[in-house]
Amino acid sequence: MRAALLTGYGAPLALETVPRPMPKADEVLVKIEASGVCFTDVHIWRGDHAAPDPLPLIMGHEGVGRVVALGAEGGRLKIGDRVGIGYVFGACGHCKECLTGGENYCGEFDATGFNVSGCFAEYVCMRHEWANLIPEGIAPTEAAPLMCAGAAAYASFRKTAVQPGETLAIFGLGGLGQYAVQIAKLSGVRVIAVDINAEKLLTAKALGADETVIADVQAGASIQALGGADGCVNFAPVAATWPLMLAACNPRAKIVLTGVPADQMTFYAHEVIERGLQVIGSSASNRQEMTEVLALAAGGKIKGVINQRPFDAINEALSDLINGTVEGRSVLTFE
Ligand SMILES: [Zn+2]
Ligand SMILES: [Zn+2]
Repeated sequence: MRAALLTGYGAPLALETVPRPMPKADEVLVKIEASGVCFTDVHIWRGDHAAPDPLPLIMGHEGVGRVVALGAEGGRLKIGDRVGIGYVFGACGHCKECLTGGENYCGEFDATGFNVSGCFAEYVCMRHEWANLIPEGIAPTEAAPLMCAGAAAYASFRKTAVQPGETLAIFGLGGLGQYAVQIAKLSGVRVIAVDINAEKLLTAKALGADETVIADVQAGASIQALGGADGCVNFAPVAATWPLMLAACNPRAKIVLTGVPADQMTFYAHEVIERGLQVIGSSASNRQEMTEVLALAAGGKIKGVINQRPFDAINEALSDLINGTVEGRSVLTFE
């Protein structure tokens, strides 16, 4: 099969022919139709988080394709089923997190495209228990980014706990932010979109954002002038949004952190204490959240801004993501 191999951190991925994997007893073999490129892949590619095993590594954790072979266990899947592959390859299944809807916080979870081979290849093995069936009516290119970006945006939005009529400020209007705007509007929430890029704010407005604010030093005050935020969610992978969110929050607001900055976020404790703020981390999603976001997309309620390219253009897709020149999510297709 053709695969894009990470052979050295920071080096272009090598497009090579490698043996097709064989599914283990609890796995199925999936022929990939579409594979999304995520900023987590950039972190792995740069070596921000070194892979547990020696390179080469096949990255990629936003895959959609058809089941073409079953492992000995088989499970509930049949040949030909269209399934989605997300960041969590598998978790222990018996810890408190796994048993209470927090499987993506299991201390022993394996990540697709990091601990095990991922979706930047023609074929990938996945555990049948972790396969999300893709509903009819969603194209593979539309479904692929839902497996990580869409589901992570959905999980983050849920954690803000904003209610209909309340205001959510969404920081960072890349792919996750675009999904979050649509999900929040479906819930009757007033949305303030915040980004440094005016074009991304125009897209956010087109997707339903009620207000837009440029993410300069005045952003907190601008949001306060609009009534303040009852919740904030940060998808921008920078610490610079942190003081803006603190300034934007109304008392007892929740701040959900999803984008991972490289630098530290600092604050005086009284800023959080005296206003009763809550700061919550959110990483990836559980399978139920994936199912729910897929159902919204199948019903035509949310739609990704998709930048489709052939698999061979994977290195350009990565560098465009690093340079911030991609609008929405990049999805590779296989022919
Ligand atoms: Zn991802
Ligand atoms: Zn567990």
